Amino acid sequence: MALRYSKNLSIIATFLSTNLWCSAFLLSSEIGVLRNRNHNKHFSTTDEDRKEGVTEKDSDNISPLSSSPPPSSSLLSKRLDGLDAPTVWHEFSPLAVKHKSINLGQGFPDWDPPRFVIEELKRSTDPEYNDANQYARSAAHLPLAEALRNDYVDYQWKESDLPTDILHNLDAVTNIATATGVTNVLYCALQGLVNPGDEVLLLEPYFDIYSSQVKLAGGTPIYCPLRSDISKLVGASEFFTLDLDELASKITTKTKVLILNTPHNPTGKIFNIDELEGIANLVSDYPNLIVLSDEVYQHLLFDKEKEPHISIATVNNGQIWDQTLTMSSAGKTFSCTGWKVGWAIGPAHLIKAITAVQQWCNFSPVTPTQDAISRALVLARRPYEGYDSYYDWLVAGYEQKRSILIDALENAGIITPAMPRMAVIKSETPTKGEATETIMPRDWALSRWLTTTVGVTAIPPSAFYGPDNLHLASNTLRFAFCKNEDTLLEASRRLEDYHFPTVSTSSAAAATDAELSS
Ligand code: PMP
Repeated sequence: MALRYSKNLSIIATFLSTNLWCSAFLLSSEIGVLRNRNHNKHFSTTDEDRKEGVTEKDSDNISPLSSSPPPSSSLLSKRLDGLDAPTVWHEFSPLAVKHKSINLGQGFPDWDPPRFVIEELKRSTDPEYNDANQYARSAAHLPLAEALRNDYVDYQWKESDLPTDILHNLDAVTNIATATGVTNVLYCALQGLVNPGDEVLLLEPYFDIYSSQVKLAGGTPIYCPLRSDISKLVGASEFFTLDLDELASKITTKTKVLILNTPHNPTGKIFNIDELEGIANLVSDYPNLIVLSDEVYQHLLFDKEKEPHISIATVNNGQIWDQTLTMSSAGKTFSCTGWKVGWAIGPAHLIKAITAVQQWCNFSPVTPTQDAISRALVLARRPYEGYDSYYDWLVAGYEQKRSILIDALENAGIITPAMPRMAVIKSETPTKGEATETIMPRDWALSRWLTTTVGVTAIPPSAFYGPDNLHLASNTLRFAFCKNEDTLLEASRRLEDYHFPTVSTSSAAAATDAELSS
């Protein structure tokens, strides 16, 4: 058997993500001895893979997080070295299909956008209502730029620290750029800002496109891990902490960009005001350092009072406004990830980095979806289905899904029940030896095991770490709960049916970062 695990397998896990719209992040320990030298031989090709152009042969060559991927065809540019290999998504979706596993790996909604958003898209393409079928203005479809300006001024940043002269002078023409989702906004920004050899700071774990996009722009990713503060067993925001001194120690004369992501994928952490002010203070010492703030989950907040979403561009009276691009998109908010409407808002001199690349890249993002979202942003603020706004309704639905997943993990004994939100359990099986004997990260092996044995698929978070800090993900898994309730309930049943051995919390000792990484 390619993958072996000890007989007394026990999984002790903990739910970390109190906030993130789609993810439950768990910590596990003692998955036993995982040794696998031929781990990349067990893949089949699915329709999804075929759509992505992945063949059976490609699948066979998957080498998770291998530091030396197979050489690219000589026809491909040097820029693609190491970036043309299949990703974590290419492995786990086919594996889930093959084993008929409930896929809680990939994080996109499996339901339709709300009816009012769909109706607006119809209107956008129908000349009888609102003809938006031709090229949009390259920098941003103006109706969308105006709607965004109004939304940030009247709602999102109204109560923020941003000085009123900046807020009220926000200009739809010069302060806003749109692109094909945040993925493309970020691509344009990095291409427009990063010179070969520049360094870009990424906080680990990070959304996996960041490092690849940095490399495509000729930059060098520099990784700074969020640390685990086990004294704060409350939620993801407290559990994952940023050590500002550690971040400061990574800044060099070559540092050009810091990518921040709040609310954070994959942990669910929401950076609080102290953390954001600390980062802003640090960044303000380096006038050539630009912050790209990815805020795609800005509306998916489970406790707005306690953990509000704050844009770093606004803190300390807009201290780093001139150094920040704030990015977001419609995909998660309106459950329309396929529409790919993304934007950036910020000072004109930085917005130019995006628009200048965009005009040679796509020329303009898709018009009808931008047009529809321009009206959806207005409608979303109105009362909806008994809630004060569409956004409140959206969060209520996610809360329901989240509690199904938490219950499922708790009932299965995966979450330590005594801990309200999370716990870190010391592994009784030392993992040090394993690390030298397997080339597969431990969380990766755990994900495979869960898929093939229990029939529930999660994503191994080591996919969100740079090569030096993979071990920090050893005891974690990411479960997406942006799935319909039937799917989540079936996952619950499978987890429950498996009868994970429960482990009493009294015998569980909290681990330090060092222990987790040992
Ligand atoms: N940023 C983060 C943190 C994400 O998780 C995702 C999607 N999973 C994106 C950006 C992509 O956004 P878009 O669909 O707007 O390109």
